[in-house]
Amino acid sequence: MAKIFCVANQKGGVGKTTTTVNLAAGLAKVGQRVLMVDLDPQGNATMGSGVDKRKLELTVYDVLLESASVAEARVTSAKCGYDVLGANRELAGAEVELVDVERRELRLKLALAAVADDYHFILIDCPPSLSMLTLNGLCSAHGVIVPMQCEYFALEGLTDLVNTIKQVHANMNKDLQIIGLLRVMFDPRITLQQQVSDQLKAHFGDKVFNTVIPRNVRLAEAPSYGLPGVVFDPAARGSQGYVEFAHEMVERIKKIQ
Ligand code: ATP
Ligand code: MG
Repeated sequence: MAKIFCVANQKGGVGKTTTTVNLAAGLAKVGQRVLMVDLDPQGNATMGSGVDKRKLELTVYDVLLESASVAEARVTSAKCGYDVLGANRELAGAEVELVDVERRELRLKLALAAVADDYHFILIDCPPSLSMLTLNGLCSAHGVIVPMQCEYFALEGLTDLVNTIKQVHANMNKDLQIIGLLRVMFDPRITLQQQVSDQLKAHFGDKVFNTVIPRNVRLAEAPSYGLPGVVFDPAARGSQGYVEFAHEMVERIKKIQ
């Protein structure tokens, strides 16, 4: 049975998609079967996995509207070593189309249950909002991975996310927990980043992953080649960071099984 994780943070541009695709590729590299679900109408995780979002016949949108199953809509990214349930702009309409539907926040959960035995991990890339799409992700998941930059405002935004996760846990998904906070785009030369990192550890303890992802231009270049950094340039420091993170996740889920 797959363990399902959302990569979420309602703040934009904090490294959610980079984390999702590189963790997926890192897990594939260490022998795990992975499905990556793109839950963002921007479709960045789809494109960043070498799948052209404009050419997809079926996407996560069709799955949410129950006009296709995950098995029908998923595609394999041979280069990246994992399966992709893609997204494109069409997904932006799902929010409105699901308004009158019963149990609309559980659509993704029910759909993923049918393929849970095919994978070790299902990773869901969430959009930068606490929308119905993100709620579908949170209701499907065993845990949330929160990528964050060690900046002052990052801590402020975290409160909203932690409250949302608590509410979902209390009312909709008893399994849900924060698996961990992942420090990304980290530059140890910047004193403020060190300070925020120390505050995070003081406040969240072992909920802060040991792995730290450095700021690394190769990770930023990789999407333009339609690849995660881990596949594009495995020797880059950022890529090595994500492979180390994959190992840490494999260890961490042993404790929650
Ligand atoms: P959105 O909220 O729009 O979905 P996001 O949280 O998914 O954004 P990304 O798209 O992963 O964030 O990253 C934002 C930008 O930062 C991208 O240009 C990405 O290439 C770059 N980036 C992410 N991680 C790193 C890193 N470790 N080093 C350097 N650049 C990075
Ligand atoms: Mg993104």
